[in-house]
Amino acid sequence: MSKLFGGIEAGGTKFVCAVGTGPDDIRAETRFPTTTPEETIGRSIAFFQEQIKTHGDLAAIGIAAFGPLDPNPQSPTFGYITTTPKPGWANTDFAGAMNAVLGVPVGFDTDVNGAALGEWQWGAAQGLDTFIYLTIGTGIGGGAMVNGKMLHGLVHPEMGHITLPHNWQKDPYNGRCPYHGDCLEGMASGPAIEDRWQKKGQDLPSDHPAWELEAHYLALALRSFICTLSPQRIIMGGGVMEQPQLFPLVRQKTLDYLNGYVQSPAILQGIDSYIVPPGLGNRAGVLGAIALGQQAVH
Ligand code: ADP
Ligand code: ZN
Repeated sequence: MSKLFGGIEAGGTKFVCAVGTGPDDIRAETRFPTTTPEETIGRSIAFFQEQIKTHGDLAAIGIAAFGPLDPNPQSPTFGYITTTPKPGWANTDFAGAMNAVLGVPVGFDTDVNGAALGEWQWGAAQGLDTFIYLTIGTGIGGGAMVNGKMLHGLVHPEMGHITLPHNWQKDPYNGRCPYHGDCLEGMASGPAIEDRWQKKGQDLPSDHPAWELEAHYLALALRSFICTLSPQRIIMGGGVMEQPQLFPLVRQKTLDYLNGYVQSPAILQGIDSYIVPPGLGNRAGVLGAIALGQQAVH
């Protein structure tokens, strides 16, 4: 029997905890709102303790968390949520708290690196060694695998905070990133759409001009990511990408903005399988957390 792993998709709004070995074998799952670290981490620990009673020991636990966080195992603050503006969560030793009570190895990375790893293991990035996973939701974030390893570098990438050209006449919206105003996240996250059009994305009709503008910003960002990291595929998830009309718009604009410069058949002839939704759908987060747990012991 294969070993069981625990996974925590730790979002700013909700936590999802699960126990299993992969997409076809989730033994138990629970979700609850993100409140204080004490309460939320406490509920996660209680869930796993309960599951261990029923299913036996876990080999490891993976945490795919909102950040900023410290994913470097060599660092004294490894496993911490670090400078997050989320009230109460700055400098929280998340992985340490899990490890102290449950006594198992803990894999710890960003939510988007976790989702990317899950997609690599079981979803739309199988067999690739360099790709990115983007989420377009409450925030915008990107995880990357580069030459077969998750990209961390100095801290971890913050792909949502790149600068884009801003045509103020065409789009007078200021942007809402507290740090940069009109960065990618400031202009194209779900809350930015809601702010600009005074309606939530899910309530705007599919032919609303919001989507053309959204695709414009996303495609500008993709051009930068393609030129910087040379990904073999780009996976786009998150609530905003549940608008199916966005995919064809983003693909066409990405081709337009690249303007033929990156000469690869994967892009020029295969754009429909180059820019894709997550193969695991909205399960990418929690399955990615389980994949982080598996990676922690391999
Ligand atoms: P989170 O980022 O908190 O994990 P989501 O990825 O669901 O959660 O992102 C939530 C954001 O996505 C909200 O701003 C919401 O308005 C927007 N959103 C959710 N569903 C849709 C949809 N079907 N179409 C457009 N926007 C959506
Ligand atoms: Zn920003």
